[in-house]
Amino acid sequence: MLEISGLKVSYGAVQAVHGIDLTLAPGESLALLGANGAGKTSSVEAIAGLLPTAGGRVVFDGADITGKPASHIVRRGLALVPQWRELFPAFTVEETLLAASSAPRGRPPLPLDHVYDLFPILGQRRLQLAGSLSGGEQQMLAIGRALVTNPKIMLLDEPSAGLAVGIVRSLVGIVQRICQAGVGILLVEQNLEIAEAVATRCVVLSTGRAVWTGRMDDAAGRAAIQEAYFG
Ligand code: ATP
Repeated sequence: MLEISGLKVSYGAVQAVHGIDLTLAPGESLALLGANGAGKTSSVEAIAGLLPTAGGRVVFDGADITGKPASHIVRRGLALVPQWRELFPAFTVEETLLAASSAPRGRPPLPLDHVYDLFPILGQRRLQLAGSLSGGEQQMLAIGRALVTNPKIMLLDEPSAGLAVGIVRSLVGIVQRICQAGVGILLVEQNLEIAEAVATRCVVLSTGRAVWTGRMDDAAGRAAIQEAYFG
């Protein structure tokens, strides 16, 4: 479904991602792990069309989407939940979801009620401005905004960032349900416990290179993860 080969990302002369490979099928879950600056955000933003690629190929659902605009990519069914949510603060919850509903074009969006079933608090706050929600509610809205585009694959960039443990635990449960419903999950995460709860496989990045790929529960992976985080 999603096949990344040799993905490279550069900021001017600085190369942030040096050719990574990964694959993800519908209903599968993969964690992209690594310390600060390892290249995780650069990778998912390039996959989602928010950053230009400097090399490599992104194939999604049989089509080469390398370098395509983000609007084209989301329309095909690949949705990004960006780091720090990036909501429009002056949009209500409902306006945020309605605006995203028009993104898939040609494919039906998911009904807003689906999001309100997953996140009842968003239903209660549907007329509230996004900017006035708590951090946890904003993260729920950012996930809901991606979900109404009816994605086949969802990229989640550190959904736990800045949130309290209890909220993160309930978000993990929701992401597991989304995955069980058949959506492929590519999770960028610093927190190993969260990655283990969501993902069955992982790619460990260090300074823009994949240093280990395999099952989350593999002991060799644990050593590679330790090395990538703590040197
Ligand atoms: P974090 O967990 O801190 O978000 P990350 O693994 O997502 O880290 P990236 O944000 O992708 O890493 O950064 C990878 C490299 O690219 C780092 O060396 C970073 O300094 C560099 N970088 C990221 N954004 C820019 C930018 N806009 N301009 C120049 N360099 C950048």
